[in-house]
Order: sequence, then C-alpha cells, then structure tokens
Amino acid sequence: MESSLSAAPALSERTMIETARGLRDESITLLTALVREPSLLGDEAGAQRVIRQAFEALGTRIHEFEIDDAKLRSHPAYSPSILPYAGRRNVVGIHEPAGPVRGKSLILNGHIDVVPIGARELWRHDPFGAEIDGDRLYGRGASDMKAGIVAFTMAFKALRQLGYEPAAKVFLQSVVEEECTGNGALACLLEGYTADAAVIPEPLPGIMTCQMGVMWFAIEVLGKPVHASVAHTGVGAIEFSFHLFGALKALEAQWNAPKSRHGYFLKHDHPVNFNLGKIQGGEWASSVPTYCRSDIRVGFYPDMPVANAKAEIERVLADAHARHPGRDSLSYRLVYEGFQSDGCVIDINEPVMQALSGTYRDVIGRELPPSSFTGTTDAKFFNLYGDTPATCYGPDGASYHGIDEWVSLDSMMDCTAVLTVFIARWCGLNRMETR
Ligand SMILES: [Zn+2]
Repeated sequence: MESSLSAAPALSERTMIETARGLRDESITLLTALVREPSLLGDEAGAQRVIRQAFEALGTRIHEFEIDDAKLRSHPAYSPSILPYAGRRNVVGIHEPAGPVRGKSLILNGHIDVVPIGARELWRHDPFGAEIDGDRLYGRGASDMKAGIVAFTMAFKALRQLGYEPAAKVFLQSVVEEECTGNGALACLLEGYTADAAVIPEPLPGIMTCQMGVMWFAIEVLGKPVHASVAHTGVGAIEFSFHLFGALKALEAQWNAPKSRHGYFLKHDHPVNFNLGKIQGGEWASSVPTYCRSDIRVGFYPDMPVANAKAEIERVLADAHARHPGRDSLSYRLVYEGFQSDGCVIDINEPVMQALSGTYRDVIGRELPPSSFTGTTDAKFFNLYGDTPATCYGPDGASYHGIDEWVSLDSMMDCTAVLTVFIARWCGLNRMETR
C-alpha cells in the first residue's frame, strides 16, 4: 500500500492550497445541505446523516454512538442537560494511516447543533434556506459552526484527492449538544478519543488562547400574591425576579471592573456577561403573580472554578433576598441545568498553536491574532481533561446566536486551505498507491 514521500516527487503546499480551493463548489453544496437540515439542539439526527455520508466518502471508518448520560454523570466536567439523549448521536470518522506513522495525531471537531432562530419576522433571509448573496451564505448554524465542519472535511478530502493520506491518526468529530452543555464532546472524550492536538473551527476571530467559564441556572421565585386592586400590598414574583437579577447585574459590573479582570481580558469592552435569556411567570393581568422562572447564563474568568462562581452567585442572591422589604413572604430556589463549565487557557507556545499560526501566515500571508473568548467552546474538555491541547480557528461569520447569521464563503475556503496544509505539516503525509 505505502510508498514513502521521498520516493515520489514531494507534494508542494502550493498544490495542496490550489486543490483545497478547487473544492469550493463542493464545499458550498455540502454547507447548503447542512444548513437546510434544521439541526436545532435536540434534533441533530438529519444533519448527522449528511455528515456520516461525507465522512464515509473520505474513506474513514465511522463510529456513531448515542450519548449515554449515565456514563457522563460522574465526570467532573459533566453538565446536566435540558434535553433527553434518545436518538442523538455523535459521528466520528476515524482515519488510521495505511502507511507508516510519520507525524502527530489530530482531532478535528465541530458541533452540529444550532441555537433557536428567535423571532422569525426579524430575519430577512430564510433561517434554514442557505441563501447566498455575494460572499455570504445565510442561515442558522452557517457560521456556528457548519462551515467549520465543511472546512475540515474538505481539507481531508483535498489530500485524498491528491493521492495522499495523513501519516498519523486523524479523528473527524461531529458532535451534538455543544450549545447547552458540551456533553457531545465530553462523550467523545469518554469513548477514548484523545490526540496530540485538537482544532475546532468555531467562527471566532483569530486563534483562541483562552475562554471563559460559563454557568447556566434558573431562579424559581414565589411571590406574595394578592388581588390586582390592592397590588401595592403584595409582591409579584416577576418583580422579585427582577430584584434578584438586578443584584446579579451589580456583580457583573464588579467583575467587569478593571481591577477584577483576568489578564487575558484587559482589552475587552465587557468580558463578563450575565444574560437573562428566558423568563416565564405570572398567571393573568388581575392577580399579582405567584410564580416566575428566570433562565440565566453567567460568564466568569478562567481562573475562577465553576464551584466558586456558584458560591458567589448564591451569596449575592441570598443578600438580595435579605434586603427586600417583603422578604418574609418571598422565596426562591436555584435549579442548575445546562453549562457548569470551567474556563481554560491554552499556552500560545503549545506546538499546535505555533503550527496553526505559522500555517495561516504562510497560506494567507497575514498574522492570525490570538484572541480570548468571552464564551465557552468544547475546547475546554480536550484541554482540561483530555491531555489534548485544543484551540479554535475557523471561518469568519457574523450574527451567530443572532438574526441573519452568515458565513463568508471566501473565508471558509481560506480555512479549508489552511487546514489542508496544517494537516499535512502536523500529521505528515503518505502517498497512497491506489486512489
Ligand atoms: Zn459554536
């Protein structure tokens, strides 16, 4: 099967780049198919079928498996989900070189789940139409992060098309449920997938050196209900919820203050963000509401373990409750569902960081700036628990988690070219005798 690279004329990186860029039409076709599968969190199966076919076409061995919550629950990075796992499967394409191992192993990981579209009437483009306008392809999940999955799939394909295989193990992973827990990627880790590095083509600027911790929780509040005609004698659960959230916003301001900042976030406008993402409460207009639930996401610096963030939040809420004049007839409880995730830092001197930045410089002709992310990604699992240095670098896009999300097709092809050369440099190449 194998013959050495030295025995054949060396494959030039210029040829790799041209071949990768030549896959533009095919890349757009795959991205369109993926965006048209509305793989909202919990409903990833249709898009995973498309991915499975794409990984099979690369000649990789497919490992598809459902998330087993019982298996994950005892892991320190586990987050309780908001959804059941039945029918929700990760897809891994496994490449084991037929020829000799010459380089380092690699995980290329992306998440297939996408977030809700929000109010449809705000979208100018069909959220699942994959409409193209100039350089932009629109749709929920286009940039976050189906274009990234397309980029690494096509990078692998470019090398195969040239008659080469990566000369080390490569695992192509398309995982479910990144957007509320990361348990899809955690499940891959617990299946034993580790490597010398992992790259996740999330649509973040530059190359990620740091991400924040993120925690979700809900505050369920009981108020002091009375008839609306004497509303001033009661305390509405909704109003009490805003009182509690106001105290959290004061903590957010405190954590954003220059003296509280982690060194990687000194230049950000507003690194710490507490978001009241969903609120449900009240019964009808003529009663002071009895019940309210607020779903909240908080971010915190990577040097603060999630347990400390939790303790701080609980202290602030207890103080706010104690300060409220109606405290004796008010109560609340906290429900922890969704992310319970530590942040992490990736050393810029890690070989994968140097190799990826260097490849970007050589292929694109510019520097890839380091960036600190004020959210979370699946890179945390690899870095903190997988002994696998991991970073994010992916295609440029905008409005992810917003309205009219789009990805730049030129930048998707840039990313494909960069990843093609990066795989070749990181893993080495073997010439395949037969195509
Ligand atoms: Zn993402």
